[in-house]
Amino acid sequence: MNVLPRRMDFLQMEEKWQRHWEEEGIHRYDWDDDTKPVYSIDTPPPYPSGDFHMGNFLNWTYFDVRARYMRMRGYNVLFPQGWDCHGLPTEVRVEKAKGIRKSDVPPDVFRRMCEEWIEQYIDVMKTAVIRMGCSVDWTTEYRTMEPEYMRKIQLSFLLLYEKDMIYKGEHPINWCPRCETAIADAEVEHETKRGRIYTIPFYTGDGEVLIATTRPVYLPACVALGVHPADERYSHLIGGKARVPVFGQEVPIIANDEVDPTFGTGAMMICTYGDKADVVAVARFNLPVVKLIDGRGILQPVADKYAGMPIAEGQEALVEDMREAGLIREEHELDQEVGLCWRCDTPIEVVTARQWFMRTISLTDKVVETAKRITWYPDWMRQRLIDWATGLDWDWVLSRQRVFATPVPAWYCKSCGRIRLARPEELPVDPKVTAIDDVCECGGTEFVPDTDVMDTWFDSSLTCAIHAGWPDKPNWRRQFPASVHPSGQDIIRTWAYYLMVRHLALFDETAYDSVLINGMVLGGDGRKMSKSLGNYVSTPEVFPKYGADAPRQWAAAGGSTGTDIPFRWEDVEYGWRFMRKLWNACRFTGMRLQDYDPGEGVEPRLLDRWIVSKLQRTVKKATEAMESCDFMNATETTRNFIWHIFCDHYLEAAKTRLYGDGDGKKAAQQTLLYTVERMIKLMAPITPHITEEIWRTMYDPDASIHVSAWPGYDESMVDEDAEKTGDVIIAAIGDIRREKNRMGVSLNASMKSVRLYAPDEYAEALRLGSTDIEDTLKIESLEIAAGVGGDVNLEDYPEIGFTVTL
Ligand SMILES: [Zn+2]
Ligand SMILES: [Zn+2]
Repeated sequence: MNVLPRRMDFLQMEEKWQRHWEEEGIHRYDWDDDTKPVYSIDTPPPYPSGDFHMGNFLNWTYFDVRARYMRMRGYNVLFPQGWDCHGLPTEVRVEKAKGIRKSDVPPDVFRRMCEEWIEQYIDVMKTAVIRMGCSVDWTTEYRTMEPEYMRKIQLSFLLLYEKDMIYKGEHPINWCPRCETAIADAEVEHETKRGRIYTIPFYTGDGEVLIATTRPVYLPACVALGVHPADERYSHLIGGKARVPVFGQEVPIIANDEVDPTFGTGAMMICTYGDKADVVAVARFNLPVVKLIDGRGILQPVADKYAGMPIAEGQEALVEDMREAGLIREEHELDQEVGLCWRCDTPIEVVTARQWFMRTISLTDKVVETAKRITWYPDWMRQRLIDWATGLDWDWVLSRQRVFATPVPAWYCKSCGRIRLARPEELPVDPKVTAIDDVCECGGTEFVPDTDVMDTWFDSSLTCAIHAGWPDKPNWRRQFPASVHPSGQDIIRTWAYYLMVRHLALFDETAYDSVLINGMVLGGDGRKMSKSLGNYVSTPEVFPKYGADAPRQWAAAGGSTGTDIPFRWEDVEYGWRFMRKLWNACRFTGMRLQDYDPGEGVEPRLLDRWIVSKLQRTVKKATEAMESCDFMNATETTRNFIWHIFCDHYLEAAKTRLYGDGDGKKAAQQTLLYTVERMIKLMAPITPHITEEIWRTMYDPDASIHVSAWPGYDESMVDEDAEKTGDVIIAAIGDIRREKNRMGVSLNASMKSVRLYAPDEYAEALRLGSTDIEDTLKIESLEIAAGVGGDVNLEDYPEIGFTVTL
C-alpha cells in the first residue's frame, strides 16, 4: 500500500482524474452488454446561456451523484449529454448584438449567425460540466441544431401526423407581437400590473348599457355584448342589439352564464380576442372573428383612424378621443393579471392563426394516470405535473414563425393546396431551401414550402427515446423508458410535461420511470440569486478556489431534494476542511499500514468492533438515503461518521496500539483497512476526485473506485453491546483527555493514576475497555471504582466521575 503525500494540490489532482477518466473511458455506456441492468438518465440538454451558474452546478451534481451511485450498484449507466440550441433567446441575442431583425438577412445567413453564437456558449458549459467532474459519456454528445438530430425530430413529426396526433388548424393562440411568433401556454409568464379600467356606454334602442373594460382599443373587434341570464338589470335586452361607441357596428346582446354580474357593470363586451374568456365565448356562441392586429401588433383597417398604430399607442389615442367626446363615464386604476412573453416581456395578444398543433388535451387522463404510477423524488412534486396538465385548455401550438429552429417538413400544392409532407427518407429537410420534385394528386407539380419552424420544446421533448437510440439502434427499447428524468421544479410544466405527452403520443408509453427534482439556488441572503442583488455566484468564481469536490458537498448536502437551497461559501469551506480531514486520516492510515501483514486475522478489540458496527449503520443509512435520492442525508451521515466518529474518536483511541505491536496493533490495522475502504466508497459519488486519489494510492492503482462495488450492509457485524460499551469508553477517553489538556499537561505525557467512579451498569463497560483507556491516555494505573465520586463528571454520562493524579 502506498502512502498519500502530505501536501496535495487538490485542484490539480481533480483535473488529473478528469483527464484520466476520459482516457480510460470508465463512464462509457456499454451498448452491447446485456448482462448488467441498465440505468438510463435523461439528462436534460441545457440551453447554453454562456454561463454555468450555481443552479446548473446543483442540477449536474444531482445527475452525477445518481449516475456514480448506480454504477457502483452494478448498473450499466447511460449518462448522455446534449445541448438544446434552437430557440428565441439566441435569435433575440443575435438580433440585439448585430442590430438587425431576423427578416433583414436571408434565413440561412441568420441561422448561421445563431449557430456560431451558440457554439461559444456550449464551450463554456461543457468546460464547466467536465471541470465539476461529471461522469458524462461524451461519446453521446449531441446538439439539437445538427441535421442528424433534426432528422429524428422531423421523423417524429411525420409519425405523429400519421397517428392524427398533429394537425394544422385555425385556432386562437398566444402571440408575441415583438417576437412575431405564436407561443405556447407554458411560455406565457403571468404578472400583476397596474392598469386602468374605463366605463363606456353602448347604445340600445331606448338608452345605453355601460360596460367596464381595460382595453377600449378592442372596441373595433367587439362582436357581442354578454350579460348573465339571471341579471335582472339586463334580461329585457337579451336577444336585442347594441351599437358600439366610436366605431358604430351593431352587435347582439347575448345571455352568457360565464359573465360575472358583480364585476364592473355586469355587462361585458366580447372581442376577438381580448383574452381567453373571449375565445371561449366566440366558440360557444359561434360569433364572427374580426382581425384587429397583425403579427407585429399593428392595428388593422378595421380600427379606422387608429389603423397603422401599434396596439398600445392606438389605445392611448382612442381613450384620449373618447374622453374628449364624453364617452369615458368613469375611469380608475386597478391591478390586473397580464400575460407576458417569457423571452422579451412584451404583453401577449390572443389572435387566431393557422398553425400546427399537437393533440395534448386528449392525453390529459393518460398523463395524470402515468404521473401517479411513476416515482417522484420528492414525492410531493407529482402534483405539480398533474395540476399543470389538468389546467390546460388548448392543444400545444407547435409552429413558430421564426428561423433558428427545426423546420416543419411540409410543402403545399400550388394548385389545390394539399399538404405534401416529407417522406422519412427525405429527412432532414428545410422546405424553404429544398424544393420538392413530385406530382400532386391533382396533377399539380408546383409546391410552396411551409415556412414555419417548430417550438424548441418539440426538439427537447423527445430525449428519452433519442438518448435510448431511437430510431436507429435496434435495441433502443433496452434504454427506454428513461430510468430517471432529472429536472428543476420550475420546468416541470414544460420539460416533464412535454416529454410525457410526446412519448405517450408516439409510443403509448411513459417517457421515464422516475423524476428527480432539484430546487432553485438562492443567494446567501436567502433571496433569489440575481446579478442586480449582488448575491450572484457562478462557477468561474468557485472552481479556482475550491475545485469541484468541495462545492459538490454543498450541492448534495445544502438542503433536502426538491427544496430551494441558498449558496453559502461557508458550506463550501466546510466541504474543503472535510477533505483535508479525510486526506490526513487516510494518509495516517496508509503510514500505519506499511508493515501490515494480513496473514491470519486476529480477534478485534472492543473499540474495533465498536467502529465497525457504527460503520455498518452508516452504510445502511447512507444506502437508504442514496436509494431515495436523499443526497443530503447520504452526505451528512457519511461525513459525520468519517469526521466525528472515525477521525475524532476511533483514530485517537487506536493510535497507541498502532504505534505499538502485537495483536492489538494488528486488530487496529485490519479494522482500519476495512473501514477506510468502505467509508471512502460511501463518499465516492459525492466527492469523486479525492476518493479516487485515495483509492488508487491505497487500494487499487489500476481500477477506479467508481467501478468498484458499493459497500454492502453486513448485519453480522452490527454489535449493539460493543456500541453501547464503546460509547462509554469513548466518552471517558474524550473527557479525561480534555481534563489533561485543561491541567496543562501534554497529551503525550503519562499520568500516574486515574480513578473512575461509575455505577455498576457502566463500570462493567469501563472495565472491558480499560486497556484502550490506559493505552490511549498513557495512564500508569487505572482504577475503576463502583459508585459515585471524582473531581470531574463526564459530559454525556454525568453519573460517571473521575479523578486524575499526575
Ligand atoms: Zn416576445
Ligand atoms: Zn394539388
